[in-house]
Amino acid sequence: MRLVLLGAPGSGKGTQASRLKEHLQVPHVSTGDLLRAEVAAGSKLGLEAKGIMAAGNLVSDEILLGMLEDRFSRPDTGGGFILDGYPRNLAQADALGRLLQRIGQPMDFAVQLDVPTELLVERIAGRAQAEGRADDNPESVRKRLDIYTSQTAPVIEFYRQHGQLTVVDGVGSLDEVFTRIIEAIAPSRDVG
Ligand code: AMP
Repeated sequence: MRLVLLGAPGSGKGTQASRLKEHLQVPHVSTGDLLRAEVAAGSKLGLEAKGIMAAGNLVSDEILLGMLEDRFSRPDTGGGFILDGYPRNLAQADALGRLLQRIGQPMDFAVQLDVPTELLVERIAGRAQAEGRADDNPESVRKRLDIYTSQTAPVIEFYRQHGQLTVVDGVGSLDEVFTRIIEAIAPSRDVG
C-alpha cells in the first residue's frame, strides 16, 4: 500500500501514520521527522533547516526532494509506504508524482484528514504542552496554518481533480479516525 497522508498541522497525521505503519507493515516516511533528525544530529542540512522550522516556514523544495529521493532509495520502501508531511505545495506534488513514476511506485491513495481549524489550534496547544516541539509556539502555529491554507490546500484540490483524493473525517478518537481510514483504503474501494 502506497499512501500519502494530507492534513493541516494538528490534524493527527503523525499519530495515524504510526498506527497505519503497524497495520499495513510499511514504513512511515515523515518529512518532519527526517528534518528533526537532521536538526538533532547537527548536520549541515539540519543547521540550515532549524530556524526555518522553528518559525513555521517551509524548508526549500530542493532540500526536501533530495531527502525524499534518498529515503525512497532505501529498499524498505519497495513494499509500500505511508508518506506524511509531503507534498506541502504544488511544486512538491509535481516532484512527488515524477519521483514515484520514476521508481515505478505510483501512490494508491492520497488521504486527507479533515479537521476544523478551531480544533486544530486546540490540539496543537495540547501537543505543545505534552511534547514541547520547538515549532508549537503560537506565532509559529499561526504561520504553519497560514501556509497550509495558502500552499498546501491547493495540493488537496490537485489530487481531487486527478481523482486520487479520499477525504476522511478527522474528528473523533484515535480509534474512530483510524477505523475510518482503514475503511476508506479497503481494497474494495477504488477512487480511480
Ligand atoms: P511536520 O512535522 O510535518 O509538521 O513538519 C515540521 C516542519 O518541518 C514544518 O513546519 C516545515 O518547517 C518542515 N517541513 C516538513 N515537511 C516539509 C515539506 N514537505 N516542505 C517544506 N518543509 C517541510
